[in-house]
Amino acid sequence: MSADITIISYSAEEITKRRAQVGKGLLDISATIDSPDFSTISVADLEILLNLYDQIFMKGWVKQNLPGRLQFSISRQMTKTAGKTICKRKATSRDMIMEVRISLPILANYGRIEGLDQVGGIKSASRLEALQLIFEHELVHVLEYSAYGSSSCKRQRFQTMAGNLFGHTNNYHQLSTDHEIARRGLGLAPGVRVAFNYENDILEGTIYNIRKRAAVMVLDKNGSYQDQQGRCYSKYLVPLQLLQPLQG
Ligand SMILES: [Zn+2]
Repeated sequence: MSADITIISYSAEEITKRRAQVGKGLLDISATIDSPDFSTISVADLEILLNLYDQIFMKGWVKQNLPGRLQFSISRQMTKTAGKTICKRKATSRDMIMEVRISLPILANYGRIEGLDQVGGIKSASRLEALQLIFEHELVHVLEYSAYGSSSCKRQRFQTMAGNLFGHTNNYHQLSTDHEIARRGLGLAPGVRVAFNYENDILEGTIYNIRKRAAVMVLDKNGSYQDQQGRCYSKYLVPLQLLQPLQG
């Protein structure tokens, strides 16, 4: 009988030590990753990471108990999400197939905005460490799918496992994204005056908020939004790269 993966727990100190061991192991074995500031990564690196995490954190649980197949991929399309675990075929059955996808753009952008370096509530010191933290999060999804047949990082069960095994204190990343780099580079923020093309017209307005796109309020006597002075506005949702900031 192997260890029960759902109850393995380490102290913060142990986690830091073991994480460094995994990082060093990857640097030693990998054919592509040659420094903590690596510029490229391959699927083979993710397979090496899995083996290292299995030996160093999970007491060989994955090797002995993982049902079905686990695949890895590297995504060029994921620009906002750092990692993703997809359960392609029925969880916990012998022929289940899971895929862990890691974002290349997120890794490539690492360090481009100062202070954006956290994953799972843990500060990373390098691109390699950020990769590990992202990988750890996805690994908990894999373990949860394997043990229970379902997984959600919004739920308590996931958060307890991620906390016990890896010391994660939340379920999101704060890393540089294309979106955030564009926003900061262009000086876009709520309150900033902007111009944009709309159906062959150039409209001017003020950014109200920024989500995926910016909400821009444009003066319009027929608009359905009204400010405290009684002026009416229409709201436009505009992709960030189409906004021109205006002076003053
Ligand atoms: Zn998640």
